[in-house]
Amino acid sequence: MTRLKPTLMRYLMLATLVVSSLASAQEKNLKTTEIADNIYTFTTDGEYISMFVVTKAGVMVLETINSSHAKSMLAEIRKITDKPIIYAFHSHNHWDHASGGQVFLDEGATTIAHAEAYAWMVANTGRDMTIPAQSWAGKRKDYQLGGTKVELHYLGMNHGLGMTVFLLPQSKVTYIADLVTPNRLPFTIVPDFNIREWERSLDEVLQMDFDKAVFSHNESKNRMAGGSKEDVALQLQFVQDLRAGFYAELKKGTNPFLIPKVLKLPKYKDWLMYDEWLEMNIWRILSDEFLGPYPWRPEPS
Ligand SMILES: [Zn+2]
Repeated sequence: MTRLKPTLMRYLMLATLVVSSLASAQEKNLKTTEIADNIYTFTTDGEYISMFVVTKAGVMVLETINSSHAKSMLAEIRKITDKPIIYAFHSHNHWDHASGGQVFLDEGATTIAHAEAYAWMVANTGRDMTIPAQSWAGKRKDYQLGGTKVELHYLGMNHGLGMTVFLLPQSKVTYIADLVTPNRLPFTIVPDFNIREWERSLDEVLQMDFDKAVFSHNESKNRMAGGSKEDVALQLQFVQDLRAGFYAELKKGTNPFLIPKVLKLPKYKDWLMYDEWLEMNIWRILSDEFLGPYPWRPEPS
């Protein structure tokens, strides 16, 4: 196990590098962008995008990512305001999103995650991860700061644990991690996604009232300005097309284990990682459809 870990880390870093190398040079210089009044997106590399909201009473941060990212974001926030950081929200449990919380705890902020994510983070604390100061349970919780409201929506199983979709109803801006990755195929073998529940969740996101969506991963040209409902609809369409394509091949009599090699979805050929990840995406559909949905867990009582 101890020998495997560094190797796995190298591969994950390689995957990140492959994606990074495709980001254009001009986008790499982007750091902080004001996308609506007092609402900013932030990135260090174009691959992980956070959001922060400046209010009269202090600052709210959405997605700490890791310590290096969080420190750079704090420095950017300090160029805009000297108001205290009050809340730092984690979208879900995964190490690559919910690390770096200590940077904001040190600023006196309260770090917050859904109870499901919290429990996992306690049991599986990553090296750069800090247990959130606060957790919340159920399907919905609202926070208010300096007249700005942020709604936390837990839509049930979809990706990871405690996945929270954030909505700022006054400005109609949402922040979405991992559930939508515009202009890019789902990550490799689509890890830790319950595919059908993911589709149900995307449908529910489409019912929400927002005009602008900030995605933690976004390979569109306007990534720092955020996207829209159209991106959510396209993501849902991709997953539906992926499964429909799989079943169409099965119906034709194609050996299921050859489907990942033969199935193409040319409609998405311009999406980043189409050549590299489509086959892995199809393997995931194959295993899901043979085994039944996973991961799965009972609804908390
Ligand atoms: Zn994740």
